[in-house]
Amino acid sequence: MNMNRINYIAIIVTIIVIITIGLISLDQSSDLDYDEKPRVVVTILPQAEFIEKIAGDKVSITTMVPPGASPHTYEPRPSQMKEVTEAEMYAKVGTGLDFELVWMPKIIETNPNMLIVDSSEGTHLIEMGAHDNEYPLGAKDPHVWLSPKKAIIMVENLYEGLAKIDPDNKEYYAKNKDVYINSLKELDSTMMQTFSGLKTKKFMVYHDSWGYLAYDYGLEQIPIAKEGKEPTPEGIANLIDQARENNITIIFASPEFEIQTAKTIAKEIDGSVILISPLARDYIENLKKMSDEISKSLNES
Ligand SMILES: [Zn+2]
Repeated sequence: MNMNRINYIAIIVTIIVIITIGLISLDQSSDLDYDEKPRVVVTILPQAEFIEKIAGDKVSITTMVPPGASPHTYEPRPSQMKEVTEAEMYAKVGTGLDFELVWMPKIIETNPNMLIVDSSEGTHLIEMGAHDNEYPLGAKDPHVWLSPKKAIIMVENLYEGLAKIDPDNKEYYAKNKDVYINSLKELDSTMMQTFSGLKTKKFMVYHDSWGYLAYDYGLEQIPIAKEGKEPTPEGIANLIDQARENNITIIFASPEFEIQTAKTIAKEIDGSVILISPLARDYIENLKKMSDEISKSLNES
């Protein structure tokens, strides 16, 4: 290879490097534009869905607990805490979810100027497994978002927060909020219909997240794991008895939690396990699916 050829290659390589650096910095500057939108941080995915339905693409949304993770155990990554420093608003669920109990003080300390919105302000919180002494006395059920009746109040609260941090778009947000609340009201009346006149009322779940749905629609959830704790062998035997007494053949588990115990019980009662997440982002579709499956299982039993 002669010197001319080496020089030629060196020049080409230099040009490629310069173009690449140029493209990377262009890309970064477009990221900066994107970041000029108000940044809103939420704890769980259904809240991200609510914010998006109200604000469209006028805010950028960060969800702390990612798909597949549990808000009872998740710890934020450093990159997520950095996003908190750039946020105008943090919407907590506000019901004592473990993630918020542990991390809210740190989150507020990280960005003391951001608006903190309590999504569930004004909802009536129910006690975790009332009349069940396996729960701490008076402990509130944190899974408030899983009843559309409560979701409607949450969407109102989130709208109020968005209107505060971005008053220029208040009317746009109000219009979208009304449209979405109408869809939630439709979902609510569909569910009222679905659950009226069922033969039985009791459904079995692995994780105790469906208390508000049960409470608001006249049903009763029988949880396998309470407070995140696996049942004892006696507990499992007792659950199998309850399932048989109530003709239960379906056990609802979710992808965020282990399902072995649910499978074990399902096998004993000759039933099956259905996976439905309490944290799916696609809120209305997910709740429709859950209520259809519950009503199907209760009508068949
Ligand atoms: Zn939970």
